[in-house]
Amino acid sequence: MTKQTMHIGLDDTDSRKGGCTTYLTAVLVEKLRKFNVEFIDYPGLIRLNPNVPWKTRGNGALCLRFNYEAKFEDDIKETATTLWEEHSAVKEKGTDPGIVFYQNSQIPDELKAYSKKTETSIITLKEAMTLIKKLGAEALGFNSCRGIIGALAAIGETLEGDHTYELIAYRKPENLGTKRRVDEASIFEMDKQTAPFTFNNVDSEKARVIITPRGPDPIFFGIRGETAEIVKKAFGLVKLLEPAERWLIFRSNQGTDAHLQRIETLNAIEPYSSVIVKGTVSLAPRIIPLRHVIFSIKDDSTQVDCAAYEPTGDLRKIARELHVGDTVEVYGAVHKATATKPLTINLEKINILSLTKKTLTENPMCPNCGKRLKSMGKNQGFRCEKCGSKYVDLKKNQTVVPRAIKTGLYITSTRSQRHLTKPLRRYGQEKNCRCNVPMIDNWYFLM
Ligand code: ZN
Repeated sequence: MTKQTMHIGLDDTDSRKGGCTTYLTAVLVEKLRKFNVEFIDYPGLIRLNPNVPWKTRGNGALCLRFNYEAKFEDDIKETATTLWEEHSAVKEKGTDPGIVFYQNSQIPDELKAYSKKTETSIITLKEAMTLIKKLGAEALGFNSCRGIIGALAAIGETLEGDHTYELIAYRKPENLGTKRRVDEASIFEMDKQTAPFTFNNVDSEKARVIITPRGPDPIFFGIRGETAEIVKKAFGLVKLLEPAERWLIFRSNQGTDAHLQRIETLNAIEPYSSVIVKGTVSLAPRIIPLRHVIFSIKDDSTQVDCAAYEPTGDLRKIARELHVGDTVEVYGAVHKATATKPLTINLEKINILSLTKKTLTENPMCPNCGKRLKSMGKNQGFRCEKCGSKYVDLKKNQTVVPRAIKTGLYITSTRSQRHLTKPLRRYGQEKNCRCNVPMIDNWYFLM
């Protein structure tokens, strides 16, 4: 029997009160089983540009890809649409669900390019609809329909470059809204046993578990890692103190820095994008209320502010130690200038390229009694206040003060990392292809 390929993209079904597009995807995987579909990839969990002003929480979009028998086409679409309508918080403001169906065994380059753009900049619904029409895809949306933008993007992000995996476990409905019950010590142990192949399990600065969200959503916890095997193994090491309803493994652009674009000059950075850009520290760090640290960098084109906010933890401590003249490469989201603030980069990472020499100039000590001498005026020599000696030939001492920081890459604390931020633990493990890794047999489970 000839089979055809379908891609279903979903976005923004989350309400602020709970619900979760990944959960809808997990349920849809279950519902599609009766149509005998053959999944050709793990569900895609695609994080889009984290700086879009209207995002709900994580700005994530989802995609399912599978082969199916032509006779089930209508049933599949109806099942997906019905489920999506049931799970979408359509009545809530700020929730703009979208669903897109696309039938093609290939993803065209134009669609792939569109997806990259949604990860780094702002796309309009009009652009998305134009492409949908051109490709012959089908789209449905509620409210502003902006979810269609992300739903299409999830289909076009085939994750052929760097990617990661996340196993997400879900809670039983009767437990929703209560504190998540899981043995925290087992999560620290899991982290130790699976490092460096899993990441962002715990915040080592605060010795805190960060895989469990707070709030009423159905996510129990999520484990991120380099392969499907390792996140599944890690899941087996976590001791659950309440039963999970189901779990499922996603393939994702999380932890890959997909949102960051390298920009050559400071005057070319744009609000709502995330950039990597070089500059020389031009105004020393100053601490503003709530212990945020602000400094300025410049190049030949202009000067901008860089901000390390309190939750960035150690990154803020590093920023505080910068001096005018240090050269840095900063990573972060660009915030537009306001009446009181210039264009500002909210730091996710700093790569310190060079440190200026800091020297301290001091009057010499009295050769007679050891007391520090007083200057008698410019080129007038020195006088000792203790023993009265005078010295006309002595010069001021110049000593190099050791810097408190070293060159190298510094990343915001784990707890304040964006979904897309590549953590230190992943450096050196980046993938540059899908590499024909076959899917593992049991990549989801219903309890
Ligand atoms: Zn003296």
